[in-house]
Amino acid sequence: RMASPALLMRVVASAYSIAEKAATIVRDVMAAGDLGIVEKTGANDLQTKADRLVQMSICASLAQKFPKVTIIGEEELSTDEVTEELIEDGHCEEILKKTCPAQYAEIKEEELVIWVDPLDGTKEYTEGLLDHVTVLIGIAYGGKAIAGVINQPYYNYEAGAGAVLGRTIWGVLGIGAFGFQLTEAPAGKHIIVTTRSHSSTLVNDCISALNPDSVIRVGGAGNKIIQLIEGKASAYVFASPGCKKWDTCAPEAILCAVGGKITDIHGNSFQYNKEVKHMNSAGVLATLRNYDYYASRIPNTVKQSLVP
Ligand code: AMP
Ligand code: MG
Ligand code: MG
Repeated sequence: RMASPALLMRVVASAYSIAEKAATIVRDVMAAGDLGIVEKTGANDLQTKADRLVQMSICASLAQKFPKVTIIGEEELSTDEVTEELIEDGHCEEILKKTCPAQYAEIKEEELVIWVDPLDGTKEYTEGLLDHVTVLIGIAYGGKAIAGVINQPYYNYEAGAGAVLGRTIWGVLGIGAFGFQLTEAPAGKHIIVTTRSHSSTLVNDCISALNPDSVIRVGGAGNKIIQLIEGKASAYVFASPGCKKWDTCAPEAILCAVGGKITDIHGNSFQYNKEVKHMNSAGVLATLRNYDYYASRIPNTVKQSLVP
């Protein structure tokens, strides 16, 4: 008899299917037309019915299968009254066929922390910029992001009726990342991707100091990491607090699984143990390649304005 797959691989395989279910909910809520928008801290910090239902779906589905794992989701909701139709019990067979890296083979449920952003890019979702939206499930062990799933529910939505809508990208450190075509940004060009709806003077000053050839302003941390791994942008630069651990955990694992790097604006790596503070107070700097080029050009004045 074959030994059963390692816990980490079972968690990733389940997270894949749970993220696909989440994408269906995201599309269904939009199609039904009632977003049920609630302001959290203000007009730039929104929650919709999709954020709420997906949070319940993901957290309850993971908790049912992996009861001892710590799950930290963005939305403050109880999973006590989750209805059966929100639960996803499936998994991706392809992922279970991959060999778990030796250093993760003995991980126990109690040692995993899963960071869930049920809907990243909510502001853009409410404005109809649907391909900015992602569902993020990040898996951490020993304080480090080691695996992640990013679902993009509206991938291909501008490609017309014949195209398959939506995709799921997943990755594990030591295995790689799948579900997209890894592409490097144009050599010698400095293309920066940054926030669309959370700009500030500091955010813009930092970008100007890097003297980019062009700047792409799009919503979502997940979406911006996709821009890096598909060669649309060479650096994700966000010199502002506001982005949280659930925004960066899954993207970090996938970016790092293909050789990229993500830190705060000072160059500090992010920690994902369950006690860590949620806010990435010192911003975000991420690249697929040439991290040092960008890190060395962040102005000291910007660094002094962002306390980790
Ligand atoms: P953005 O690049 O603006 O889409 O931000 C990436 C992630 O960080 C999203 O989940 C945002 O909601 C979050 N975020 C960034 N800045 C703020 C802010 N000032 N207030 C609330 N959330 C923010
Ligand atoms: Mg988010
Ligand atoms: Mg969110």
